[in-house]
Amino acid sequence: MKKLAGPNITFSDALREVYSGISCDIERARYANAIPDADEIEEQYCIGANNANLFEFPRVTSTRDDPDPAVRNGLRKSDLTKLYTQFFVPQKKPGRLIYDRIKVSAKGKCPFCGGVGQVRTLDHYLPKANFPLVSVLPANLIPSCGDCNFDKSNHFPYQRNKQTLNPYYDSDHFFVQQWIFARVVPSSPVVLDFFVDPPAGWSEEDRERVVAHFQDYDLAERFAIEAAADLPETITTRRTTLSALTPGEFSEHLTEKARNQALPVNNWRRVMFLALSQDEWFCSREF
Ligand SMILES: [Zn+2]
Repeated sequence: MKKLAGPNITFSDALREVYSGISCDIERARYANAIPDADEIEEQYCIGANNANLFEFPRVTSTRDDPDPAVRNGLRKSDLTKLYTQFFVPQKKPGRLIYDRIKVSAKGKCPFCGGVGQVRTLDHYLPKANFPLVSVLPANLIPSCGDCNFDKSNHFPYQRNKQTLNPYYDSDHFFVQQWIFARVVPSSPVVLDFFVDPPAGWSEEDRERVVAHFQDYDLAERFAIEAAADLPETITTRRTTLSALTPGEFSEHLTEKARNQALPVNNWRRVMFLALSQDEWFCSREF
């Protein structure tokens, strides 16, 4: 849940680079002739993304009888996914420079899970399996960690309110207002239970979208695992160097930890420290 500036590379530019890596003249011409309207496709995509309407973008569906459906002007799904896998991702292809430029734009932190994972790949916001026409559209390629990329897989919803957050296009309020919270489960070891609670003024659609994002990326479990690994350090500090603090002072210390991290508002560690600071049982307990 980290906002990113979209890549400053057009679809036409990306295609030009990709085509330059195709050695066969006939094959290159086949692609170029079949996609003469890259600017229009990109415009259609951007309008959809800006209006959270990408669930309506034309999709292709494979069936048992037609596993490799025609997409346009003689190009099949496999031809278009090949543009990505064979002419965009491989290290020695000119398209790889664009791949790498997009990948480093997140500065290593995956925007979907808010930095739980390190960026390892590019995620197709509209999966190439169903939207092969935009398999190398830069605006559709978002830096991602392996887990987020795996969790999402080829899934893309048919409903507007089930769409996960788009780090390039979605409104700032998703990224600057807190909608993930945690409660402390008084147990040994201490457990944090993360949950979604969007601000009261949000629309029903926005509320449902963050719930979808939280569920699709399995953030409750992944955040809880991170917290479980991190908590012993806080507990050890409380037992040793901070043992003289009153519960109120310890609570204030935890609040400061959350504030001082300069972490995004829904980052698991920030949410964790805020939850701990507000929990009377945790702050007053003798560890
Ligand atoms: Zn991630």
